[in-house]
Amino acid sequence: MRASLPSCAVAVLALSGSAWSASPAPIPPAADQELARAIFKELVEINTTHDHGSTDAALAIQQHVLRAGFAESDVAFIAPPEHPTKGNVVIRYRGKGKGKPVLFLGHLDVVEARAEDWSVPPFQLTEKDGWFYGRGTIDMKNGDAALLESLIRLKRERFTPERDIIAAFTADEEAGGDANGPAFLLKNHRDLIDAGLVVNLDGGGGAYKNGERLYFGFGTSEKTYVTYTLETKSPGGHGSLPGPDNAIYRLAAGLGRLEALKFPVMLTATTRAGFEKFADLNPGPESADMRAVARTPFDPAAAERLSNVVRLNAQLRTTCVATLVSGGHAENALPQRAKATIQCRMMPGDTAEHVQTALTGALNEPKITVTLDAPPIVSPESQPTPQIMTRVASVVHSMWPGVAIVPTMATGFSDDRQTRNAGIVSYDLGGTWADVDENRAHGRDERIGVKEFDESVEYTYRLLKTMSRKD
Ligand SMILES: [Zn+2]
Repeated sequence: MRASLPSCAVAVLALSGSAWSASPAPIPPAADQELARAIFKELVEINTTHDHGSTDAALAIQQHVLRAGFAESDVAFIAPPEHPTKGNVVIRYRGKGKGKPVLFLGHLDVVEARAEDWSVPPFQLTEKDGWFYGRGTIDMKNGDAALLESLIRLKRERFTPERDIIAAFTADEEAGGDANGPAFLLKNHRDLIDAGLVVNLDGGGGAYKNGERLYFGFGTSEKTYVTYTLETKSPGGHGSLPGPDNAIYRLAAGLGRLEALKFPVMLTATTRAGFEKFADLNPGPESADMRAVARTPFDPAAAERLSNVVRLNAQLRTTCVATLVSGGHAENALPQRAKATIQCRMMPGDTAEHVQTALTGALNEPKITVTLDAPPIVSPESQPTPQIMTRVASVVHSMWPGVAIVPTMATGFSDDRQTRNAGIVSYDLGGTWADVDENRAHGRDERIGVKEFDESVEYTYRLLKTMSRKD
């Protein structure tokens, strides 16, 4: 789940009922193509919504890698004791020991899907008109299948990486879970997944526009999710005797002031590079402003003009918005309390304390308290360094020559926040191409182009080889 090349959200748009017309790219040898598709079908058809959990899928993956010749001691199935259905499987592909391992992440869980809402059965893989349909086809059983098949292929080819490759297929990335795999593993089994670098396949990937390859995004950062509760109280009393001290009116007036709160513009290495690249890709009225914002120091007037576009505003600053409100206890009584929930998405580098101070200042009302709901899982930017840009380009351009490569900041969050919060540099490097203008992840009739799936498998194989080289 994210924006501007969302992880947990890549999009596909129908073009005359068939897949994309963009020029084809390399695909795996026939036997690997077939194996990848078979694994994909198997994973899509194992229901891994919250009610079912991820254990069955993790055990299926365990069987595949054991059959492929991985040592039992290098394949660990682990579920939290209090959540046995939320299993994870961690595979170590041993290398020459040159440097800290690289950890590849894929989440196994999917968002609920109801058969009556879909035109095809959501928990079956259906191939139709150049597409594979099914829950998880884009988020992210596609990435899981590509990762698993690539491990098996590399093993068969007797490839030895310079550093260990760790692959973790994990539980509970999607909203509502209580047994997030990476968080659990980092806390209880850090030795199993400790790495110098994380490559998350849940995010990143290519963006088509009108059927043409527009750019390849890779995630270097995401905003931090943080929630506050506002509360105010009043004496209450009989509804027939209203007075000046009323919690609901006080809160409503405060929310009006909060609506006007605008956080200062904050730019990161990623958003500067992103604005620069998007200015090149979208010649138009916005491109001059994007360049002016990418410069140091940035042009505040240009930033204000771009802020009128919702998705650009979210790239420029921390945002907060009222999402829930409640108050009073009876139709015929004066309220004794009123509450609101304020949901914020902080820029990398911003802090919960700073945001709370800004909220309190904008409310300007000592009778409204502002409380932080829970300490945020901060997610610092993983810098788009020249080294990583070169390495990513070597893989991407071996597949899709000449495409622009753009570092991106997601406005939602992914498991990267767990690994970045734990101090491990993490990049989203999924390899699926989809349309920029539509997003079926989490929605109905989720699908991936058949050609795009095959290409993503070959890309993932190359990515494993390249990213396992020593720094
Ligand atoms: Zn996802």
